[in-house]
Amino acid sequence: MAEGLDFSVRYPFSESAKKHIQGMAPDERIVELAVERVKKALKGESSARMLLHDTEKMEEIASFAAARMMLGHLHNNFLTSRFAVNESKRARGYLDRDGDAAVDEVASRFGIATKGEGDRLAVDLPTYLRYSLRNPDYRLINMRILHGTVEIKRSQKLRLIEEAVRQHVEDIPLVKDPPDIIKQAAKKLLAEIPKNESRIIIKAGDHPPCVMKMLESARKHENLPHHARWYLATYLTAIGMGEEAIVKVFEDLPDFNEKVTKYQVSHIRKKEYSVPSCATIMTYGLCCAVCGIGHPLNWHTLTDDRKGVIRK
Ligand code: SF4
Repeated sequence: MAEGLDFSVRYPFSESAKKHIQGMAPDERIVELAVERVKKALKGESSARMLLHDTEKMEEIASFAAARMMLGHLHNNFLTSRFAVNESKRARGYLDRDGDAAVDEVASRFGIATKGEGDRLAVDLPTYLRYSLRNPDYRLINMRILHGTVEIKRSQKLRLIEEAVRQHVEDIPLVKDPPDIIKQAAKKLLAEIPKNESRIIIKAGDHPPCVMKMLESARKHENLPHHARWYLATYLTAIGMGEEAIVKVFEDLPDFNEKVTKYQVSHIRKKEYSVPSCATIMTYGLCCAVCGIGHPLNWHTLTDDRKGVIRK
């Protein structure tokens, strides 16, 4: 068994972590750490800390539970998504360094069981579909499938676990009446959410269905796969949107990083990358309607009636 106090600190969503803090009520220190944990998630900073004493380790584990309680009380998509992404990346950092025993222990928490060794691991199809990324590298057509199992590499297994952690952390039940100390801290946390006054206004029919869907996902603070971001940035650039406004669109994504986004948007503009065709977008798995226009930019040549028929 890989379980122990240090394991629980690294993986605070584990069953062993729950056992370690059973009966511990959130006090001032724990809530302070919990607020810090969510604030770091908002900035995309790592919340991992060097801890020497067992008391500190217990507080650290409890801070994860307290943060979830606060987020469950607030029920704010933006905060919850940012927190889930940051916690899954934190766990991934440890998974990259931990040995197979710890990795398998975490994997079992989410029902991810693999057979085989090294870079030839077999995972059952339903588990793979549940946790694999919506990106071409993970599409079944590019994978080896044998007797209902999918062959994956060790790094892909870690990526499945990372996604499982994200989904688990994001799935926070509503906490209607938490202790007062949690309620007060939750109120303060709300003030940390960036205001979005300059968010672009988008009306139905302004853009092709695939673009509208991505903009809607971003607005709901849902993650967009790499190809979706790329396509969206090239499209918005092509229709003449400024760099600053494009960065604002990405600002709502849970793992938004201003510096990286600015660099990528400016790179796309400088290199004059073209908007992919509908055929390419289909291979990305991002097409969601049969527009029959061949290229997303042709959307702007359609009459309003034709756009209306396609949207139905
Ligand atoms: S047909 Fe083209 S424009 Fe329409 S949803 Fe699909 S990819 Fe987008």
